[in-house]
Amino acid sequence: MAFAAADEGQVQSRMQSDEQGNTSPFAPGLLGANPDLGPGLGADRCAGEETWKRAVAYTREKSPASFDQWFSGVQFDGLTDGVLSLRARDEFVRQWVEDYFLPTLSEQLRNETGLSIQVRWSIDGSLERPVADRPSTYPPVKPRPLSVRPAPVDAPAAPASAASPRSASAPATSTRLAVVPPHLEGLNAKYTFGHFVVGPSNQLAHAASMAAAGDGGRRHNPLFICGGTGLGKTHLVHAIAHRVREERPETRIVYISAEKFVNEFVQSLADQRMHDFRARFRDRCDLLLVDDIHFLAGKTQTQEEFFHAFNALHQASKQIVVTSDKYPQQLDKMEERLVSRFQWGLVADVQAPELETRVAIIRKKAQFEHIDVPDDVCLFVAQSVRSNVRELEGTLIRLAAKASLLNVPIEIGFARAEIAATGMTKPNEASVEDIQRVVCHHFKLRSTDLLSKDRHKSIAFARHVAMYLCKQRLKCSFPELGRAFGNRDHTTVISAVRKVEALRTSDPEVRAHLEALERKLGTVD
Ligand code: ADP
Ligand code: MG
Repeated sequence: MAFAAADEGQVQSRMQSDEQGNTSPFAPGLLGANPDLGPGLGADRCAGEETWKRAVAYTREKSPASFDQWFSGVQFDGLTDGVLSLRARDEFVRQWVEDYFLPTLSEQLRNETGLSIQVRWSIDGSLERPVADRPSTYPPVKPRPLSVRPAPVDAPAAPASAASPRSASAPATSTRLAVVPPHLEGLNAKYTFGHFVVGPSNQLAHAASMAAAGDGGRRHNPLFICGGTGLGKTHLVHAIAHRVREERPETRIVYISAEKFVNEFVQSLADQRMHDFRARFRDRCDLLLVDDIHFLAGKTQTQEEFFHAFNALHQASKQIVVTSDKYPQQLDKMEERLVSRFQWGLVADVQAPELETRVAIIRKKAQFEHIDVPDDVCLFVAQSVRSNVRELEGTLIRLAAKASLLNVPIEIGFARAEIAATGMTKPNEASVEDIQRVVCHHFKLRSTDLLSKDRHKSIAFARHVAMYLCKQRLKCSFPELGRAFGNRDHTTVISAVRKVEALRTSDPEVRAHLEALERKLGTVD
């Protein structure tokens, strides 16, 4: 068992600031996990365990779906004198639980004990008594690279910048408090990791963003976050900036939308201030965050400039994060050398969230905005608005505004009537992305696999099945489908569709897969 000692300073300090700044040090001899506890302390331990169980029950009730998933990787080791000892299967689980469950848990514990709660974590790969023993439906995934070319191996693993894991480089709390990070234009204060709901649809992008912010886990450079509109890409990029500002205020962060990059580039050219422009993006930058990179499409001169900035930063091992509404290989009018660089690190997609995640997002938003929304309304809204988180949030805010105007509670009848009146409820119209998502989920692949050049038998089969289902269900031409599947030739799609059609009649296993997938698509979620 190894204590996550280097991280403890941060864990404690974060909990402390959450918990009204109590600074009492740990008392190692009082940890509940100690088997040599005397009778008095043993009684304390039992009381601590009971308190812990009540807090767990409360927290589990709030998010039953993901609680067991994550707490199957956590063990309770004791609660004594406000010190909660937890053991996590690995750093990834620790981080997740800390971000998403500890605020609620520790608030409950504080209410019960009247003490400010400090958490002492340890990391242990083999837990004997996990808090939850239900195996998770979606096991926590660690970022895995989809690189066509690995990042240079001789690059330093972690520069003294945003890229360094917290444990390695974060200065002591007192030093951190002394440095005030400069104002960063355009950051939305609400877009933090704490406000981001994680589910299977965005798990990888979220984990990779945390790693890019230096929160541990393997760091990928660049991190390319892609997906449809309103699915949280900008939120994640802002969250990286917030986290780095909080943890390493000395880091020079440049956050810019690609559109602004273009405008500033053009203006700098006109004003003959290119030297300054270059220095800003190449020399005076430790972390570059560029939102909506697809905006560079067709802008060759700006692409060239961006290419050089990218190279300079990458060579200096400075973290680069970009977002895009398309996968790199689908970016039109983008120089090949840029497209290939975007694939050097990790391409992490965000998909439309699943029902459970949508419910959790509504709950979180309602909590944040102090809107009282019953569970059945949360569910109804989540079922009515499927594809876009921005729309989901907008629906909740509209309901709340209308209810307040009419001075009525938000209850299910009201919500139904309002949503029907605004025509929000959509028929089950799947898109290519929906089909790809369902197929990937069914075969336990990621959608990037379907678009990749990977010819591994199982991936190729899933790809063919997805193409077949798209052709069956959507009004797409073969060339359109080819483009939607990683820019493949239309003849590839034709032969895939024929192959699956033939297998459907000759192979019962294939038929079973297709029927299962059709059932899933029939109900979209
Ligand atoms: P994108 O950049 O992908 O178009 P945004 O990041 O602007 O989307 O997200 C749109 C809205 O939805 C924002 O208000 C954001 O906070 C919210 N949002 C998206 N995904 C999530 C999520 N997983 N959890 C909480 N809020 C989310
Ligand atoms: Mg955005």
